Amino acid sequence: MTNPTSPVRVRYAPSPTGIPHIGNIRTALFCWVLAQQTDGQFIVRIEDTDQSRYDSEAEKAIFESLEWLGLGFDEGPGKGGDHGPYVQSQRQPTYIEAAHRLVESGHAYYDDTTPEQLHALRERQRAAKQPPRYDGRGRHRSPEEIEESRKAGLPITVRLKVPDHGSVSFVDSVRGKITFELKELDDFVILKSDEMPTYHLAHILDDAAMGVTHVIRGDEWISSTPRHLLIHQALGIEPPEYVHVPLILGKDKAKLSKRHGATSALEYRELGFLPGAVFNFICLLGWSPGDDTEVMPREEIVRRFSIDRINDSPATFDAEKLEWMNGVYIRNMDEDDLISEMLPFMERPKAEGGLPDSVTRPIDRDYLKRLIPLVHERLKLLTEGSETLDFFFDDNVNPSVEDLPGRKMDEAMTVQALEAALDLCKDASSFEPEHLEVEYRVLAHKIEMKPGQLFSPIRVAITGKTFAPPLFDTMSAIGRERCVERIENALITLRSAVSTPTD
Ligand code: GLU
Repeated sequence: MTNPTSPVRVRYAPSPTGIPHIGNIRTALFCWVLAQQTDGQFIVRIEDTDQSRYDSEAEKAIFESLEWLGLGFDEGPGKGGDHGPYVQSQRQPTYIEAAHRLVESGHAYYDDTTPEQLHALRERQRAAKQPPRYDGRGRHRSPEEIEESRKAGLPITVRLKVPDHGSVSFVDSVRGKITFELKELDDFVILKSDEMPTYHLAHILDDAAMGVTHVIRGDEWISSTPRHLLIHQALGIEPPEYVHVPLILGKDKAKLSKRHGATSALEYRELGFLPGAVFNFICLLGWSPGDDTEVMPREEIVRRFSIDRINDSPATFDAEKLEWMNGVYIRNMDEDDLISEMLPFMERPKAEGGLPDSVTRPIDRDYLKRLIPLVHERLKLLTEGSETLDFFFDDNVNPSVEDLPGRKMDEAMTVQALEAALDLCKDASSFEPEHLEVEYRVLAHKIEMKPGQLFSPIRVAITGKTFAPPLFDTMSAIGRERCVERIENALITLRSAVSTPTD
């Protein structure tokens, strides 16, 4: 199917039973993109008819995820609209009325089969190696019998009468024509005994009432679609376009789950990902623009998105690719924006990934501004500020004795290098990076070492790490006095290690 040319009405209809995972948010994202592209409307509807599984934290997380990813909606809870309420538990009378109407028109019936009876039926079927299915016994109950059961306090459900033979078909926008044989289906519940609808009934009534043109949802719903088509037929309403998006698998080809690491959008926020990168990445789970382009700003995705390029085979979630993409977005970011994004992570307590607690908060923004250019190119996550830049803030660098010597250097040579480095650090006529580099190169020549050999112990002494930003920029940012102290400390560490074994 080519893309709709007239404005779509699409909805994201999460059940607030758990933190929305990536696959769930992807449907919101596809809906949002399509609404933007066609100048249509993006609706949010909370499907909370299973009150026993309702989780208010999950509901909060749904809206937070949407907000973080910039998926503003046109109609929905807290926003209003002409087709509200947008919370299913507030629409119960409509569902009850429709279920009763379907009973009256002969498409559905009341059923007083108890959970115990259903359980016994399933057990018998299992023993006979038959697939579990409801046997339609309620079809034969008279209104009087149902009334009696009701008075006796038995649970009464409403089930749709599924024809015993024939088939239903629909054309899925992603998969093409799909046909189901009706004999495979049993009479299913549309209104539960607590008078709450099942998903099957509720979403159809709501989608129709809300004028939804395209239902974009996970392809785990394909097998339920024949039921949905039967409800449409029974109610005399036109089904929407169905766009079933493919499953998301981990790299091991197993269905994406907690085992694969973070699975919700909000977890990615916590891990230091940028919403733009996550948006871009999620869009490519099951859709591609048709060429090799991967990094695409939101506007480009909106322009290029098309239903006919949604894949019918499962998408693979590649966490490394997401990290790479985040790095690209970080590199393309303006320094001031990057600082604003990184500061909150760095200001967290150390135990939560922030700078050491001894570093005063708030963190000096101007100082950070001087440091960012030194690491901007190689940052992949916003959380990396603390570990990459800690030694600029914290003087407690504690270089390890094993790390201090450079390549092909013994301890004596390392001491010699650091002593010479210390003198120059005290005496250098300027502490500008370019100047420092020239002077230290001259020094290396003078003490007959390779520049790398001289620089390596200095780097470790000053940063505590073997891998750090450019040395002379680092020294210059840290300042002469603190560099002198750190080289002196490294010398103390080194000398005590050298003297200890012979004592
Ligand atoms: N409440 C359903 C879910 O969260 C919605 C499925 C749909 O989009 O129709 O899976």
